[in-house]
Amino acid sequence: MRAPWPCSTCGAVGVKNMGTRGYCAAHLVDLYRRRIDPEIWMSAGGGIGLPELARPDVGEGFAELRCSACGATWVGAAFVRCSWCEDTIARMVVWQAESVLTPPDVDPDDSQISGVMRLR
Ligand SMILES: [Zn+2]
Ligand SMILES: [Zn+2]
Repeated sequence: MRAPWPCSTCGAVGVKNMGTRGYCAAHLVDLYRRRIDPEIWMSAGGGIGLPELARPDVGEGFAELRCSACGATWVGAAFVRCSWCEDTIARMVVWQAESVLTPPDVDPDDSQISGVMRLR
C-alpha cells in the first residue's frame, strides 16, 4: 500500500488516502462522521470506533471512541470494528438463519401433510 499523503484539507500528516485525497486523523474522523450513514456501516460489517479524545495513558494509539454506526462508546485503538455492532450483526444473521430454517406455519394435523408422511 502506498504511504498516506499529507492531509488534502489541512496539510497535516496523513493516515489514509481515499480517492484522490489524503486525510489526517482528524479529517478522516470528520469524513467518517459526516459522510457515511449508520446503515452503510451496518451493511459493511458494523461501525468503527472514531476517536474523540486521545488516551495515551491507556496505551499507544488508544482513544475514547464512539461507534460510527450505533453510538456506543469505549476506550480502545482508533478505527477498530465496534464489538456491539458485530454482536448485533451476528444476532441478525442467526435470526435470519432461523427464520429461513423454520417452516412456515403448518398444521401437522392437515390431512394432505399426514398423507404425504404416510407415503414415506
Ligand atoms: Zn486534516
Ligand atoms: Zn457500533
